[in-house]
Amino acid sequence: MHERIDEATFVQSMAQTLMRELASGAAVSSIPPITDAARDAHHASQNSVTTPFPEAATGWAETDAAIHRLLSQLTFAYPISAPTHLHAPAAPLAGYRRDFPILQRHVHGKPLIWFDNAATSQKPQAVIDAISNFYTHHNANIHRGNHHLSQQASAMFDAVRDRVATFIQAPSAANIVFVRGTTEGINFIANTFGECQIHAGDEVLVSQLEHHSNILPWQKLCQQKNAILRVIPIDQQGDILLEDYQALLSKKTKLVAISHVSNVIGTLLPVQEMIALAHHQGAYVVLDGAQSIPHLPINVTALDCDFFVFSGHKMYGPTGVGVVYGKQHLLESLPPWQVGGGMIQHVTFTESRYAQSPQRFEAGTASIADVIGLGAAIDYLQSIGMATIQHAEQQLMAYAVAQLEQVPKLRLIAAPRHRIGALPFIIEGVTLEDLARHLDQAGIALRIGHHCAQPALAFFNQQRVARASFGLYNTPAEIDQLTRVLLRCNYSDGYSGK
Ligand code: PMP
Repeated sequence: MHERIDEATFVQSMAQTLMRELASGAAVSSIPPITDAARDAHHASQNSVTTPFPEAATGWAETDAAIHRLLSQLTFAYPISAPTHLHAPAAPLAGYRRDFPILQRHVHGKPLIWFDNAATSQKPQAVIDAISNFYTHHNANIHRGNHHLSQQASAMFDAVRDRVATFIQAPSAANIVFVRGTTEGINFIANTFGECQIHAGDEVLVSQLEHHSNILPWQKLCQQKNAILRVIPIDQQGDILLEDYQALLSKKTKLVAISHVSNVIGTLLPVQEMIALAHHQGAYVVLDGAQSIPHLPINVTALDCDFFVFSGHKMYGPTGVGVVYGKQHLLESLPPWQVGGGMIQHVTFTESRYAQSPQRFEAGTASIADVIGLGAAIDYLQSIGMATIQHAEQQLMAYAVAQLEQVPKLRLIAAPRHRIGALPFIIEGVTLEDLARHLDQAGIALRIGHHCAQPALAFFNQQRVARASFGLYNTPAEIDQLTRVLLRCNYSDGYSGK
């Protein structure tokens, strides 16, 4: 059993070590070694979940605040700003937290803090209820039955197509194809539109920032077609180099496939401008909206993209459903992808006629309940307002950046002009595994890894990073807790060279 030390002793010993280093004129490029007492205190805090020291967790909050104060006095040694300058923004959406039942739960005895929103978001009760209500009262297959339940289910399903169109400001429901998610949506476009439009010698442009789901379908297509995949470069900030992009565009460019928001760097790409430039050269544009749809108001008509793709599960809806928006004349020109039930007009053994778009692209039984759940997610988001969400999240991101910048040895990866949703970082001297373990023990769900964007990370000389990603329910208090835990693991395992 560890003996619990007094936090004041820990802070005092740390202050003394820091001051000694500074007085000796040593370059304080590294944080001084932690004392045994401090390490004991750290173990005590770790054991607080299962040992007789439950009070350690709250005690450490004060310790961390003291470390913070101490560090703020040492700004000449560390490039940090005093935490007293950081005013936590208001949390105008905090009231919505109660709509998400999972946020009530504890993990390892601590309230869950969900910072893995870029991987998937949590679901409000309204979405859970919509799915449950469908199975409880309306379950039937759609578009194929004359009986009451089938007609009800069909009407509910079709109504969501209208709601999606309104949500992204598409001209009509005819522009909306339901798929399983972004990955399936991009594969669908590559296998239909790409198959028809890309020929030997043509060029397809993707950006350095893309998720693998917006690289691999195009890479495979280009290999099959003897076409060329080119990469739109970024700068050290993680922003698109617009002039280089413009220089890459030529009459050979048939397609530009880009994220609206990068899932690992968080860059908001200048898509409006990029789309206009692509169109000027006669190229089509596919926008991967997986990471913009939960954070921004989307207007596909104003953007003028040719396709826009997103997943339901990243916008507080269920897994198993996603959307491809396509311009109507393009969708109408496409051959079917998967063939089977539900997408035909007439079938014989010698010849078959297919249904019009969008049914033509929805072979087989759709994930009906998930589509209904997606409709509920849209209603939920609209009841808050996407502009309101965008504004609140912008404040939260600015606060998160400012707070994390204060953690010694923490390095934020890139610094794009507009960072949305995702904040990647590493702490020098602390392994990602240790980091993840500390955070998990503190109830903080945050992902480490390559985030399915290996080329983007390789650009920043990283293979794997930690990524905090935010949603509408996250609060400045949660960011504070993240900062505290990062400070704590920085001052513990970081020095042991683990
Ligand atoms: N593109 C981006 C930018 C993403 O963030 C993701 C999911 N991480 C995807 C595509 C793939 O989405 P899904 O797994 O829902 O198909």
